Amino acid sequence: MKTQVLQEKLLKWFTENQRDLPWRENYDPYQVWISEIMLQQTQVKTALPYFDRWMKRFPTLKSVAAADEETLLKLWEGLGYYSRVRNIQNTAKLLIEENQGRFPTDFEQLKKLPGIGPYTAAAIASIVFEKNHAVMDGNVMRVLSRLYNFEGNTRLPKNQAILQKMAEELLPHGQARNFNQAMMELGALICTTKKPDCPNCPVQKECLANQLNVQDRLPNRGPAAKKIAIQVAIGILFQDGKIFIQKRPAEGLMPGLWEFPGGRLEKDESPEMALERELHEELSVKLTKIKPFMTLKHAYTKFQVQLHCFTAEIQSGTLSIKAAQEGKWVCLEELQNYAFPAANGLIIKNLVSRLK
Ligand code: SF4
Repeated sequence: MKTQVLQEKLLKWFTENQRDLPWRENYDPYQVWISEIMLQQTQVKTALPYFDRWMKRFPTLKSVAAADEETLLKLWEGLGYYSRVRNIQNTAKLLIEENQGRFPTDFEQLKKLPGIGPYTAAAIASIVFEKNHAVMDGNVMRVLSRLYNFEGNTRLPKNQAILQKMAEELLPHGQARNFNQAMMELGALICTTKKPDCPNCPVQKECLANQLNVQDRLPNRGPAAKKIAIQVAIGILFQDGKIFIQKRPAEGLMPGLWEFPGGRLEKDESPEMALERELHEELSVKLTKIKPFMTLKHAYTKFQVQLHCFTAEIQSGTLSIKAAQEGKWVCLEELQNYAFPAANGLIIKNLVSRLK
């Protein structure tokens, strides 16, 4: 009984309150897939301009498959988790070569595609093809934890499995598209992490957390994993009015992005010493005219990084690239043509405002 009431109320609320989003216009599989990949770790309002730019540049699966890496990365610049871009292109190529450019409609088949895990497979299967699979993202976990006063730590796989089962049981068969989106939309707009808007919630009456007034304590996310503090030194090398940049390896963190050379400080090293050592190891050069440019803090994946940035020139040695895929000397204006990690982007902004 309660399940049916929840289903009806949530579906009605979604029909009346859903946001007008471009991938909802006709639920095209390609558009829904790109939106779902972009929305991992990113809010809708941030993803929207990226989505628009992407669709203008790559309106079809075929255009993504044929794209060059630089353009793909540039369009993704700022969204992070850059291996997603490579997976998008690999999936596009695979679908064109092996499936006449069509998406499989089956959850298990979708899950075999590069970069498509259980969440994205369930999202595509249900939102595009109306298959009866419940999606489970952060929004859905929060809504379910509160609706059912589920107190288990949602970071633990065993509790995620319990929530997944609850979501499958709550899913009205034949209406997976709207119901899954209703759960996610409710989490994004009403049942938010901080200050959920319970008085305006369509399922306030049925919500156990609301009845017990414990919504601020749920979901239980356990202790957050502590970030590892690291220090990094990087150098902006100048020569004949140009700046040196290098392309990160094709595998590992931020594959294929461009960056200024440098690396982590070792024990008892000053940032300047680390810069000299790193550039000697990576590029076989000795530096001169080393000057502090800026220091910034930022976080990525599990790291809390303090980034010490210097300007410098090459004193001796012939530059030879050992750690990167390739290197280039470019002028200030050309930097905008390349995709950089977020922290390097901030440094470039500073460089442009100081040097122009
Ligand atoms: Fe979330 Fe409040 Fe609605 Fe419960 S009543 S689902 S806590 S917004």
